[in-house]
Amino acid sequence: MRLWRAIRRTGRTAEPAPPRPEPLPRARELGGSVQLRHVDAGSCNGCEIEIGAAFGAVYDAERYGARLVASPRHADGLLVTGPVTRNMTEPLKRTYEAVPRPRTVVAIGDCARNCGVFAGAYGVTGPVRDVVPVDLEVPGCPPRPEAIVEAVRKLTGR
Ligand code: SF4
Repeated sequence: MRLWRAIRRTGRTAEPAPPRPEPLPRARELGGSVQLRHVDAGSCNGCEIEIGAAFGAVYDAERYGARLVASPRHADGLLVTGPVTRNMTEPLKRTYEAVPRPRTVVAIGDCARNCGVFAGAYGVTGPVRDVVPVDLEVPGCPPRPEAIVEAVRKLTGR
């Protein structure tokens, strides 16, 4: 009962919804909902913190129809962070292959886009687009949760 009262007192914490972004052509096939598997291909964990915020109570990406899932076999696409390290090159390819077709890849953060601060490092294979096809990129180091939410809204069209 105390918990219920606390929830009632707190009310809604989510930010007001910003205007709907222009959806990607793929949004029509997805029908307003997208299941995403996150892959950390070599991130410093900064991008993961922002993804956590994007799917948390304040930014609440789920209200736009996006959901993080545990298995690539249950996903419509991947959210990939970090430069792709040598050790993660093959696992990223295999995870991509495990996603049913048609599939979507969103590269989150500057490292995923162009290796960022890790460019030229001995353990780095390259940006995500060198390993798997990328449909959408979210710039920033790390990107703001609003930018991540905007990207997933382009997929859900909501
Ligand atoms: S983009 Fe920035 S926060 Fe994200 S993995 Fe690279 S260094 Fe870390």
